[in-house]
Amino acid sequence: MPTSITPPPIGRFAPSPTGELHLGSLTTALASFCHIKSLGGRWLLRIEDTDNERCDQQFTEQILIDLEALGLHWDGDIIYQSERIDIYNDYLSSALRPLTYGCECSRKDLEQYWAKEQQANALDEPHQLQPNRTHYPRYCVSKQLDRQQHKLRIQLPDYWVGFNDGIQGIQWDNPQQTLGDMVARRQDGMINYILAASIDDGLQKVSHIMRGLDILPMTTAQVSIMHAAQLPAVDHWYHLPLICNADGQKLSKQNLAQPIDTRDPSSLIAMALQLLQQPDVDKDTPANMLKQAIAQWDNTPLQGKQQLSAIEP
Ligand code: GLU
Repeated sequence: MPTSITPPPIGRFAPSPTGELHLGSLTTALASFCHIKSLGGRWLLRIEDTDNERCDQQFTEQILIDLEALGLHWDGDIIYQSERIDIYNDYLSSALRPLTYGCECSRKDLEQYWAKEQQANALDEPHQLQPNRTHYPRYCVSKQLDRQQHKLRIQLPDYWVGFNDGIQGIQWDNPQQTLGDMVARRQDGMINYILAASIDDGLQKVSHIMRGLDILPMTTAQVSIMHAAQLPAVDHWYHLPLICNADGQKLSKQNLAQPIDTRDPSSLIAMALQLLQQPDVDKDTPANMLKQAIAQWDNTPLQGKQQLSAIEP
């Protein structure tokens, strides 16, 4: 009798090493780890270091040290996106080629265009609040500019894409209306991060993506890029509420969230689990605490929430 073997679920944590882990990125790592392990899956680690102006090897090293100290051990080899630029370029010149075109417009040209458009709209309908139009006006779409000498833009589809988010519920968005023809590769060769993430999630056969709510506006673009590139689809999406400080501001590197201090990893795990509204675990070694957290993992308390409040340690 033929037997079918279902592959294990695959999740991942994909930090950009533009700073050390803070409470926000720690909770993403912990939640995605416990969730995928509670399903019997594998947890991959991908370092998203394509932005060589902002990423730093020292941050990568510290992220790895912190994850190890917390007992968040990844499965398989770490993937570094900076070593995979040829793969992204191959997709841009093959499966994604029909959607991409060279563009010579500078930021300054576009700012002038948007300012004029806004003025014209304000004259047409002076009483209406004008939307902030920042979409690329497609000046270069049919110019056939040299693809190597210019930045490349990608035409995202102008239709509604939907998916069921396991935390935020049903989501619908039109990627073209939200992001326009976004830059897929800058003139200096830097690859757009959602494009690189889409290709890697497909190639790594990631089935479950759990990440911060700040990336939700990019998700339908990711779904459509993966579809156009004929990569396996991600079946399960979860966008976690953002961790905010006492003033309601998202904890991020930009607003100088404190790096985590892993000298007392057990207390840190207990605090992050509490923040994620999980049942208490006994204070123990990180490995034993994680075992208990995995056994008790429950997305329900997070459902429908967009923010969680934290007092930084
Ligand atoms: N690299 C992104 C970040 O650190 C996360 C991207 C993702 O999880 O898809 O914010």
